[in-house]
Amino acid sequence: MKIIEPIIEVEKFDGKAIMKKLERACRTCYRSEGSITDESYSNLLKNCINRGHESILEHEKISITMICDIGVYKDLTRHRFASFSIESTRYCNYGKDKFDAQIKFIKPCNYEENSTMYELWKESMEEIEKKYLALSEAGATADQLRMLLPHSTAAKVSMTANIREWKHILSLRATVHAHPAIQQLLIPLLLLFKKEMPEIFDSVEYNEKFEEMYFQKPAELTFIEE
Ligand SMILES: Cc1cc2nc3c(=O)[nH]c(=O)nc-3n(C[C@H](O)[C@H](O)[C@H](O)COP(=O)(O)OP(=O)(O)OC[C@H]3O[C@@H](n4cnc5c(N)ncnc54)[C@H](O)[C@@H]3O)c2cc1C
Repeated sequence: MKIIEPIIEVEKFDGKAIMKKLERACRTCYRSEGSITDESYSNLLKNCINRGHESILEHEKISITMICDIGVYKDLTRHRFASFSIESTRYCNYGKDKFDAQIKFIKPCNYEENSTMYELWKESMEEIEKKYLALSEAGATADQLRMLLPHSTAAKVSMTANIREWKHILSLRATVHAHPAIQQLLIPLLLLFKKEMPEIFDSVEYNEKFEEMYFQKPAELTFIEE
């Protein structure tokens, strides 16, 4: 068994270039293409967002890859306008050599390490892995084995959403109401988006009290080659 930290990677993007492309699409509505200057996207986007004219944000997308727990992707896949490709628990048998005959679990950020609760969680994962490997050894298929996998199981996820959907997802999933394991990954992503595309993401609120020591900062997208 291996306990790992979650990982998030985001494709390289140029926030200003994205916003200028959104402006170009938006100007179609008013046939005001002639008003485009180097900085004209800024006021245009702010005004449109203020008025709820947000479909213009759908013309650009950003992809990320994560190693997260099953609970994180279970919640994120509820978002219908995002696209997902997720490591399949129906095909991946972690008892095989390809996976070093072990299950990877995401270290929970909402248990203090070495506390009694953390140790109980760890023992539970060890017990589950023991039974999983025994069943695998006995010939169980991935389809049969997956029924044992808990929410803490690590999984690789590729996710793409357009800018409008990212704004919506982050407004729901970076708040105090989202699970800490999601906040841990998506608050730093939101902070990056706020820095690179303030006109769009400035108004998105997040849990400012979430402890920075648990942040998983987004790295550049490599599709997490292992
Ligand atoms: C804190 C929190 C707790 C939650 N708890 C639960 C829970 O206990 N149980 C549970 O089942 N779910 C729960 N959810 C999931 C939640 O109900 C949504 O399914 C999820 O957040 C996806 O959001 P969305 O519907 O806004 O989605 P998206 O799929 O991202 O859609 C974006 C927007 O498009 C519009 N839209 C999409 N589809 C439709 C449609 N069919 N009709 C009309 N408008 C549509 C809506 O305006 C929607 O906000 C929770 C979510 C959060 C953030």
